Amino acid sequence: MMVLNPLKKGLTRIRMYRQKDVFGKYKTLHQQQWLAPEEYEQYVHAKMSALLKHACKHVPFYRDNIGVNELIHHNVIDWPRFMQIPLLTKEIIREHYGQLISEDIQERKWFEETSGGSTGEPIRFIQDEDTMSWMLSLKLLYDQWTGRVPGDRQIRLWGSMRDLLIGKETMRTYVGRWMRNERWINAYRMDKERVKMAVHSINEYKPKQILAYVESIYELAQYIEHHQVSIHHPHSIMTTAGVLFPHMRQTIEDVFQTKVYNRYGSREVGDIACECEQHKGLHVSGLTHYVEVLREDGTPAAPHEVGEIVVTPLCNFSMPLIRYRIGDLGVWSDESCTCGRPFKLLKEVTGRICDTFINANGTKIQGTYFSQLFFYQDWVKQYQIIQETVERVKVFVVLKHPEVGLSGYEAEIQMIDDQFKAVLGEGCDITYEHVEAISPQASGKYRYLISHVMA
Ligand SMILES: [Zn+2]
Repeated sequence: MMVLNPLKKGLTRIRMYRQKDVFGKYKTLHQQQWLAPEEYEQYVHAKMSALLKHACKHVPFYRDNIGVNELIHHNVIDWPRFMQIPLLTKEIIREHYGQLISEDIQERKWFEETSGGSTGEPIRFIQDEDTMSWMLSLKLLYDQWTGRVPGDRQIRLWGSMRDLLIGKETMRTYVGRWMRNERWINAYRMDKERVKMAVHSINEYKPKQILAYVESIYELAQYIEHHQVSIHHPHSIMTTAGVLFPHMRQTIEDVFQTKVYNRYGSREVGDIACECEQHKGLHVSGLTHYVEVLREDGTPAAPHEVGEIVVTPLCNFSMPLIRYRIGDLGVWSDESCTCGRPFKLLKEVTGRICDTFINANGTKIQGTYFSQLFFYQDWVKQYQIIQETVERVKVFVVLKHPEVGLSGYEAEIQMIDDQFKAVLGEGCDITYEHVEAISPQASGKYRYLISHVMA
């Protein structure tokens, strides 16, 4: 093992470098992350400008609607005009799929992907090897922020059934993971057996970093805390695929005696943002993604103001997604990070748009309002709140002590009920049901809130 590790690290790097130029791009990102603000702005401008020119010349959907001269004058982007480009929705991608594909697609090593589809139908989209290698190199950059370099041991607590390739793992998959010093644990619904297995695996493998679905590592941390199990302390934990609420971060950090780095992204656009070692918020990698946070009227949200996250990935020329509505809400920070990187900071990603509830008067209430009512209820193991109509809400609860039943928590439920009615109105009918388990979606993500009214 002593000899194998440096060897594996070396081979992994050579393989990455040769196959997809991932390592080369990683080196570029690694250097560019320290650009001075002015140089950084120029770099972002150049990348966006190249994408817009390409889209207006080679992608029918854009070429038919926008002239390149409208957007770029004397090599300078007209940002107010850029902000008039209609937002790209999942529905538009479905409807205009063919027109969104670049005409020079055959010259690119392209492939089709589908996104998880946490709400409704999944969407199909196209990426290519160049996009992919930028996305992978960005993952390496974020990893490096957490102290992990390629080849350092990593355990993945992964929830996506598709990524896990359950039953379809080939020898190549295993060898690839072994070479990269990755061990994958199926964390799709963490039952007792899986939790025990994960603890054993972490203690035995002693990873430098754990990369995990938020919900999975939180569940694991709660188990370890409750059962007083001894656990290896990794150098860092990176969470992804879900909202990391402050109480979750606290528990995970306390249990594993390490820092949590939150990462934000999606399958169709890659990893947009991640925390650096200063943990001031999530740095948006402007080298690869252009992010806007917008009010409902389409104007930019001010720092501390919740708005819709709209993203333009700068590295996908096969199917440019310009001003794509990813479906999440976020908040800009007005702080600048002490790390010195020029990237903007998202204070937080507060949840999905479909998590927003609406009352009979048409007022929108952010899902976090309801989530926080359940955070510190130590009798609740898991919950899901579904708004069926503006006046009907169903709450499903998994109890820590099922034998007690909901009738044992009348006072607590009354308190929650009052808080619900304070925003949804006295006339709102709220029912509570005790269930044995709440299943995650096929993507492995849990949904605490579902609004059929907003969807
Ligand atoms: Zn920073």
